[in-house]
Amino acid sequence: MPNTPYPASYYAATANMTKERPALQEAKQTDVCVIGAGYTGLSTALFLLEKGFSVTVLEAAKVGFGASGRNGGQIVNSYSRDLDSIERSVDSSAAKLIGQMAFEGGRIIRERVARYNIQCDLKDGGVFAALSQKQMHHLEAQKALWERYGYHQLELLDEQGIKRVVASDRYIGGMLDKQGGHIHPLNLALGEAAAVESLGGVVYENSPAVRIERGEQPLIHTPTGNVRAKFVVVAGNAYLGDLIPELAAKSMPCGTQVIATEPLDDELARSLLPQDYCVEDCNYLLDYYRLSADKRLIYGGGVVYGARDPADIESIIHPKMLKTFPQLAKVRIDYAWTGNFLLTLSRLPQVGRLGNNIYYSQGCSGHGVTYTHVAGKVIAEALSGQAERFDAFASLPHYPFPGGQRFQAPLSALGALYYSLRDRLGF
Ligand SMILES: Cc1cc2nc3c(=O)[nH]c(=O)nc-3n(C[C@H](O)[C@H](O)[C@H](O)COP(=O)(O)OP(=O)(O)OC[C@H]3O[C@@H](n4cnc5c(N)ncnc54)[C@H](O)[C@@H]3O)c2cc1C
Repeated sequence: MPNTPYPASYYAATANMTKERPALQEAKQTDVCVIGAGYTGLSTALFLLEKGFSVTVLEAAKVGFGASGRNGGQIVNSYSRDLDSIERSVDSSAAKLIGQMAFEGGRIIRERVARYNIQCDLKDGGVFAALSQKQMHHLEAQKALWERYGYHQLELLDEQGIKRVVASDRYIGGMLDKQGGHIHPLNLALGEAAAVESLGGVVYENSPAVRIERGEQPLIHTPTGNVRAKFVVVAGNAYLGDLIPELAAKSMPCGTQVIATEPLDDELARSLLPQDYCVEDCNYLLDYYRLSADKRLIYGGGVVYGARDPADIESIIHPKMLKTFPQLAKVRIDYAWTGNFLLTLSRLPQVGRLGNNIYYSQGCSGHGVTYTHVAGKVIAEALSGQAERFDAFASLPHYPFPGGQRFQAPLSALGALYYSLRDRLGF
């Protein structure tokens, strides 16, 4: 099998454990075969192992090769669409359960980090930054909404308040989520894979699932082996391709890009983000940034619909960074990379079951660091006979993209253009 390397990101360059894991070379039997070693797959595997299942994880490339090893590292509570839109989409008991789970992912990450001693530079505190009065009103409504679900970790920031946490003139206010935060995302995934192995789970790298024979005990084929399982969990998200055509039809891979500066001197780093919080703005096509442990500014933004890799990432993201922090004009960019997330039409996750024994969760639409950790927990609950929370997620409607696979990217880009125009005009 070809050995697929990580993209040349800051995260790959500073990964803790880059041990090679073997490709699957045999016919195996297992309780659960998990396809994909990102957060969804690893979280599911870990919860299942803790419940006593045997678990085999098949990863097409490497642990954290997908979005989980490339993302902005921001622990953001709730979902890509907020709880009010969930309340409009499902019945009240499902909305209540999904609402309670909106704040669980961050707790799971912190619990995992502590229990398995995962070194991933975890920091507390995330800021939503408002560029207009309209966005500020939206944050006020968001605070009231989250409080309705019992979450009281939010603090509104006025213009002076946001200036104390972000040295940028762009914002008129914001909101601090004290239980938001940030991590080195690849090191979190690698730590979780090590935790899976410490409980007896097996992770095969360079082992893509290329075909699934469905049936009472599905048989999952890789190019050099196969796994017979009682259950399959599909966790390939934006990198899954056409393995399961039903899932490809109702989601669209999209790219977003990230750059990392050279290490900043301590004083400059502290002047930009004095409390070391991560920040995302409130635009539809949002910018997100934070400091790394070695004081680089990690800055992301932009969306490429259909996930074509842009030729020059720096030319897309660097101007955004300078618009926020003109004081970084002379700072060198050391890394630039792209990664794919999976967009759904509703921008809400798609969770479900194909037949009796193939479970899936996908499509957190660019906002999945916390959600994927919850998804793993509810899938593990469902496999052990407690499906109430799984069923709540599964009741979220799944829509096919208009225009099918051929036109979904241009149509979505048109939609995004409309929203980004509204952002720019402050509507
Ligand atoms: C650049 C970027 C920045 C982001 N920033 C943030 C952020 O700051 N905060 C936030 O909340 N969210 C963010 N996101 C979204 C978040 O990273 C994702 O929602 C989350 O990581 C998805 O995890 P996953 O495990 O579902 O998918 P992935 O991490 O993509 O993992 C899927 C894995 O499955 C493997 N795979 C696919 N097909 C097969 C197959 N057939 N056989 C075997 N293996 C297979 C892939 O190789 C991959 O390793 C960002 C996404 C990107 C791309």
